Amino acid sequence: MSELLLEYQEATSTCTRCALAATRTQVVFGSGNADAELMFVGEAPGFHEDKDGVPFVGQAGKLLETLLNGIGLSRGEVYIANVLKCRPPGNRDPQPEEIEACESHLFRQIELIRPTLVATLGNFATKLLSGKPTGITRVHGVPQQVTLGGNEVTLYPLYHPAAALYTRSMLSVLEQDFARIPELLGRAVAEPAPAAAAVPEPVAEPDRTLEPAVQLGLF
Ligand code: URA
Repeated sequence: MSELLLEYQEATSTCTRCALAATRTQVVFGSGNADAELMFVGEAPGFHEDKDGVPFVGQAGKLLETLLNGIGLSRGEVYIANVLKCRPPGNRDPQPEEIEACESHLFRQIELIRPTLVATLGNFATKLLSGKPTGITRVHGVPQQVTLGGNEVTLYPLYHPAAALYTRSMLSVLEQDFARIPELLGRAVAEPAPAAAAVPEPVAEPDRTLEPAVQLGLF
């Protein structure tokens, strides 16, 4: 299966389905275990991801990794992707036509990886993969059964880590929601390590110039 995923990644690297092809440095396809049981889906690459070609490598990515480690998982065990594979200029919100042009890449990834649990990070991924307009504030932490890429999967909406970086209360909710992941994977529940200690004090006002990778549309 991983060979097919690699082939698909290769084919996607020259994608010109939307206008973001003109401004991106590279396509950020996704990374991790091609046979992962657990897949995370974020919003779109930011500044750092566009440069490195890997999703979630900025501050939000560091928090995601801390949260994963806290439940006994590593980045290499899961698969991480985004709704959009190319960076929107200035980290603006994905546009409906960009999501429409890109979504089949994500559905194909899910079809090839065949995860049992798909954790959506923030509003864009949650709305796209649940097929419902209900926002993340109402559905976070509530598993849903959906069919994705032809397979029955558990969809597990979570707050976006970038949002949690700015709001302490969201970080503790995100930690609590993360703590249920082992159970949803049918694994023994490890004592979660608090991520809050590893996260700097929140800044009062999100500042795009300080952290260009932060996706502000997720709050
Ligand atoms: N980095 C990503 O790759 N995706 C996001 O949604 C945010 C930061």
